[in-house]
Parts: sequence; C-alpha cells; structure tokens
Amino acid sequence: MASNRRADFEGSDKAAQLIDDVRRFLTEEIVPLEKAHGIGYEGLHPTELLRNVWKRSAEAGFYTLALPERLGGAGLNTVDTCLLKEAITATESVLAHHVLGEFSGPPRVGHLFEIATEHQLENYLLPVARAEKAVCFALTEIEAGSDAAAISTRAEREGDYFRLNGQKRYITGGAYADFAILFAVTDPQKGPKGVSAFFVDLDGPEVERNFDYESISGQRYHADFTFTDCMVPAANLLGEEGQGFKLAMSRITLNRLLHCSVMLGFARRAFDSACRHATTRRQFKRALADFQAIQHKLAWMETQLYAARGMMLHAAHLRDQGVDIRRQAAMCKYFIAENAFLVADQAMQVHGGVGIIKGHPVEWIFRMLRMYRIVTGTSEIQLNTIAKDVLKEYANDAPAVAGRKVG
Ligand SMILES: Cc1cc2nc3c(=O)[nH]c(=O)nc-3n(C[C@H](O)[C@H](O)[C@H](O)COP(=O)(O)OP(=O)(O)OC[C@H]3O[C@@H](n4cnc5c(N)ncnc54)[C@H](O)[C@@H]3O)c2cc1C
Repeated sequence: MASNRRADFEGSDKAAQLIDDVRRFLTEEIVPLEKAHGIGYEGLHPTELLRNVWKRSAEAGFYTLALPERLGGAGLNTVDTCLLKEAITATESVLAHHVLGEFSGPPRVGHLFEIATEHQLENYLLPVARAEKAVCFALTEIEAGSDAAAISTRAEREGDYFRLNGQKRYITGGAYADFAILFAVTDPQKGPKGVSAFFVDLDGPEVERNFDYESISGQRYHADFTFTDCMVPAANLLGEEGQGFKLAMSRITLNRLLHCSVMLGFARRAFDSACRHATTRRQFKRALADFQAIQHKLAWMETQLYAARGMMLHAAHLRDQGVDIRRQAAMCKYFIAENAFLVADQAMQVHGGVGIIKGHPVEWIFRMLRMYRIVTGTSEIQLNTIAKDVLKEYANDAPAVAGRKVG
C-alpha cells in the first residue's frame, strides 16, 4: 500500500510505511478491542487482554520493531524511532504503546542480546521477543531514587545461587511482569562498581508484589517488590559481577530522548483538541478562536511544539551520526517535559470547564504529562547532567559546540 508520507516528514520511507501500518493495525484491531472491553487509560488492565495484544502485535510483526534487523526488528535509526513513537502516541489508542512492547517487551531488552548467555537467551530474551513473557526494569528503591547508586538490595553468593534480599518500588510493568532485570549489590565495599544485574523470576513465594496504588495518571501497571531470601541462579547474572550499574546507565541517554517523542505525541493531541474546541465553541456570539487572547495561546503552543520537536529530531540526528548526545538528551528531556506540560495546561485553559472534568482527553493528558517531569530522571537531575557536562568542558578549557564523537 502506498505510504501517506508528507513532503515535510523527516524520517525514512520505511518509517513512513511503518507508521501507516501500525496506525491501521491500531484503528482496525486494537481500538475496537479496547472499546469492546471498556478499556480506558486509567485503572488496572486485565493481564490476559494485554497478553493477547502483545501476541497479536508479534504476529503482525510490530512487537519486535525495536530490535535490530537480524533479530526480526525493523533496524530503525533514532530519528525514525522517535517519529514512530510520536505518531502512535498521537493516535486515540489507549494500548498503542503495548503494541510496540514499551511496558513489557523488546524495547526493554534489545541491548541485552549482545551480552546474554545461551541460557538467558532461551529462558528470558527470546520469550520476550515472542511475547510469551513480560519483563520489567527494577532499579529504584525507597531510599534510592534520583541517587540510583545508593541501592541497598543485596545479592549474596551461595554456591550456584545468589541470595536476594531487599525491596524495589515504582517499577513500570511490575503489575504483570514475569521477570525483572534487577539491580542488586553484590559487593558493598565497591559502591556503584559493586552492583550487579540479574534476571529474576517474579512468581515465587519469596517475592511479594504490591500494585495496590495508582499514579496521578490513574494508570495501575506499576508495582513494588519485596524479596526475602529469594534464591537466584548464578546463571541469571547478566554480564559480569560489578557491571550492573554501568549496564543500568547504558540506555539512559537513549531512553531520555525516546521519552520526548511520547511527551510530544501527547502534547500534540492536547493542542489539536484545543484548536478544534477554539474553532467550534462559541461565546459572546463568536467562536473562541476569534479572540486574540485565545489565538495567542494557540500560537504559543504551536511555537513550543515546533521548538521542542526540532530539538528532539536534531539530537536524534546527531546520535545517528555517532555523536555522544548525553548533554543533548538531557536538554531535550528537561525542555520537552517542562514545555509539553505547559502546552497541556494552556490547552486545558482553552477548553474552559469541559477541560477540567475528569474523562476529557486533555484532562488526562495534563495529568500524564505532569508525571514526565519526574520519571526517567527528574527535571532537576537533567539540569545537573547538563551543568556537569558544560562545566567539565570549561574545566578542560575546550568548549564544544554540538557534542562529541563516540570513541
Ligand atoms: C510512575 C513511575 C514509574 C517509574 N518506573 C520506574 C521503573 O520502571 N524502574 C525503576 O527503576 N524506577 C522507576 N521509577 C522511579 C523513578 O525513576 C524515580 O521516582 C525518579 O527517578 C525520582 O526518584 P524519587 O521518586 O526517589 O525522588 P527523589 O530522588 O527523592 O527526588 C525528590 C526531589 O528532589 C530532587 N532532587 C533529588 N536529588 C537532587 C539533586 N542532586 N539535585 C537537585 N535536585 C534533586 C528531585 O529532582 C525531586 O524534585 C518510576 C517512578 C514512577 C513515579
């Protein structure tokens, strides 16, 4: 089928075609399923229904899109990946991100195929790629949030096992995950170099799972875990002992950037809704859009979206050129989280009362975008990263303009 690629689409033909294909799948299959089961953004989605969506997505060839081509993926570059995620976020489908496996599947483990053993491939990674098992990423603890290196969950070696004791909290996808990529201290004397990563099954009696809470967005797929003398086979150690923290941080730059495309997709939907409302709602015998105060709000929103999107695509392009974008990704995450939220706030203002009644899409997007100023590194932590990087260059007396080449 011919692609709907627009002249100003920034990605490849392959990405344009994929966006068309995924949108069609969402419209024809997933949205009707959501409607039939009364699935909204909020609440606890039935695990069986989610598993069915993952399975159908895998059969349709979408679940593994994030993997490299040799593993059945689309081999998309960073620009294309951002565009795909932005486009599907802007659809009306509630479960769109599940189609790409964002909260359970391949995007969370793609980078681990390089270091996993045969045993780990067979028992963990390939079942994830086939949508048979769901995975979550468990780093955060009660006393270790922004200061992730302060984790205290302990894994002590005992023969062919590690004895795991500790807690994890706010783990996305934890409500239905079969196993976690979990970070624990194996050598308390070594700080971050004493942290190791493990595949940990979550179904045993030594694992207590609590998902009896909801975030401000009303979503209920996060969970807290308590591990009490949980025996993890040494064969589940990911990479080498002491490499865990490095592994946890290895994807952080890309993840920060990819979150931007989701925030932009949501903010774009809020803006579209504001434009529609402004042109159809009448007060004082005129459309709201006739008032300059409203026009300026819309103009301001469009300008923020344009600036934010330009930043994101520029950083994505630099990464595709092999540039280390640590600073740019932090700048994008900071700027876009703060401004996408302000766009949602202005969109809500344009809607008046209807925009603050629960159940209106803009009201939900406002709450959702509020979360992004905290998750995947708070705005303050992004600013710390940017400042550290800038000042390091001046300490070395060698300021750079765009970034640094990798290697
Ligand atoms: C919905 C949700 C989903 C999540 N998903 C996951 C997941 O899947 N896996 C996972 O491991 N974690 C996950 N997290 C954890 C998330 O990454 C942390 O909540 C986040 O990093 C902030 O940590 P904290 O909540 O402990 O806040 P804190 O670290 O206690 O921060 C509180 C405030 O202090 C500020 N602050 C802290 N340190 C500094 C500093 N050095 N300089 C300036 N300001 C500072 C922060 O910016 C913030 O404003 C999730 C959290 C939520 C709420």
